[in-house]
Amino acid sequence: MSTSCPCESGKTYQDCCEPYHQGAPTANAETLMRSRYSAYVLGLEPYLLATWHPDTRPAALKLNEDDATKWLGLSIKRFEKTSQTKAIVEFVACYKAGGHKAERLHEVSQFVLTDRWYYISGEIE
Ligand SMILES: [Zn+2]
Repeated sequence: MSTSCPCESGKTYQDCCEPYHQGAPTANAETLMRSRYSAYVLGLEPYLLATWHPDTRPAALKLNEDDATKWLGLSIKRFEKTSQTKAIVEFVACYKAGGHKAERLHEVSQFVLTDRWYYISGEIE
């Protein structure tokens, strides 16, 4: 399969987020952010939970019950390593919920590096 990656990197899914979804560690927070967005598009809840820091990780996301959300696109605005083990990624993601008009999610997400990069939390702009 050579479909283009849902994270809109311009690469194929195989050459982009698929290896991460199969367990390869992401090289940096931006790659993790992209692979997590792709996981939302593809409904890969186990991946989203596995890349969420244990301190802030929810018990479940219920992605598959919430099939009304359709992700429409991702745009990374800023990627900044703020220390040796911390980084932020600012992004805008577009989605449609329940067939209504497209919404925009503008978030600044915090990431931390321990054994690999993890998502901590995000603040809506
Ligand atoms: Zn990707």
